[in-house]
Amino acid sequence: MAMTLNLDAYWMPYTGNRQFKKDPRMIEAAHGVWFTDGDGRQVLDGHSGLWTSGLGHARPEITEAVRRQMEQLDFCPPFQFGHPKAFELATKIAGLMPEGLDHVFYTNSGSESADTSLKMARAYWQLKGALKKTRFIGRQKGYHGVNFGGVAVGGIPANKKLFGEVLETDHLSHTVLPQNAFTRGMPEQGAHLADELELFVERYGAETIAAVIVEPMGGSAGVLPPPVGYLQRLRALCDQHDVLLIFDEVITGFGRCGAMTGADAFGVVPDILNVAKQLTNGAVPMGAVIASSEIHDTFMANGGPDYVLEFAHGYTYSAHPVACAAGLAALDILVDEKLPERVAADAPFFEALLHDQLTDKPHVSDVRNYGFAGAITLAARGDEPLRRPYEVAMAMWERGVLVRYGGDTIQMAPHFVMEKKHMEQMVGTLAECLKVLK
Ligand code: PLP
Repeated sequence: MAMTLNLDAYWMPYTGNRQFKKDPRMIEAAHGVWFTDGDGRQVLDGHSGLWTSGLGHARPEITEAVRRQMEQLDFCPPFQFGHPKAFELATKIAGLMPEGLDHVFYTNSGSESADTSLKMARAYWQLKGALKKTRFIGRQKGYHGVNFGGVAVGGIPANKKLFGEVLETDHLSHTVLPQNAFTRGMPEQGAHLADELELFVERYGAETIAAVIVEPMGGSAGVLPPPVGYLQRLRALCDQHDVLLIFDEVITGFGRCGAMTGADAFGVVPDILNVAKQLTNGAVPMGAVIASSEIHDTFMANGGPDYVLEFAHGYTYSAHPVACAAGLAALDILVDEKLPERVAADAPFFEALLHDQLTDKPHVSDVRNYGFAGAITLAARGDEPLRRPYEVAMAMWERGVLVRYGGDTIQMAPHFVMEKKHMEQMVGTLAECLKVLK
């Protein structure tokens, strides 16, 4: 690539900056399931951007909606004022959620959704007079973004160690059991791990626990489908002990699991459901927290005079008109093209590819999948668990396929519209790279 750019000033997020700047992977255009890199190469996007763009990149319907919105209303102050598309989109989102989740609070990212949901849960209990209900229970290997609340309930050690703790939290065990390795879809073993919530109730008292927050299917730790019956057990225990259940569906929301939400896919309805990524197909930053009527109505009933704020929380860019326009266009496509159904129909093909082609490859210690999400775990080389995934992802990039490497895993997330031949290319390229991996 003719490198005239100065790479120094941009401090890149979640990136090995030193390595990148020695050997940049520049992306200059996107269309459908393809990226164009700085050399004009077509690179197959094997991760739907960053779990964001299941509809395929550069959908003209979204582009047009955004363009028109910029012309009509580029910004609207979201505090004390509203614009029609914010209400229209909230109605549409609520209509796609499981029954009972009816009220949409906008954010601009998954991290903001996480912290918003935690604040909402704490405030709910304050309003109910349960003043000691402030503690949160997360889960090991959980990822809830990078803001302080999300980091505190998250369970990926590398994301926590430099930042300190700001909330009282504890963590359920993760559900990645050795006896479940190489399971296709949901593992059979592990529902009992939800019972650990009882231990926390015994240790801290239910009167001190505000909420449990989990991803219905772990994403960033490398695709962790819930064990059969696990989420049902967690729901029952939360009900029994009067603890709110928050699903972080930033990855699973809007189709990834072959259903509109992970809640639908796994048959469990939380009290609060967080979304982001797929809401606008990644085209404009936006997230949302969808609350039950019980939670919403508690805020409304306790707000005092009607000009007073019921929830002192929100962002300058909440319900941004351009994001709302993108969200409306993206959700129309998702529904009109029946993409969650398409994911469900093609998931067995993707599952078979992953397991048939990757299970026997050197250093692969697990293959996991659900819907259009798949991952492998690679055994550490010496004392470097992160090295092999990095090397594999670089080899894939050289061969024209983008996958995500995170921790000791390689993660794949086909676009909902990806053709089978492209899934074959992605998984086949991974199999080739693994064969020569040291
Ligand atoms: N929650 C979950 C489950 C996620 O997977 C992510 C991002 O991967 C986040 C929260 C954070 O989202 P963002 O990076 O948009 O802040």
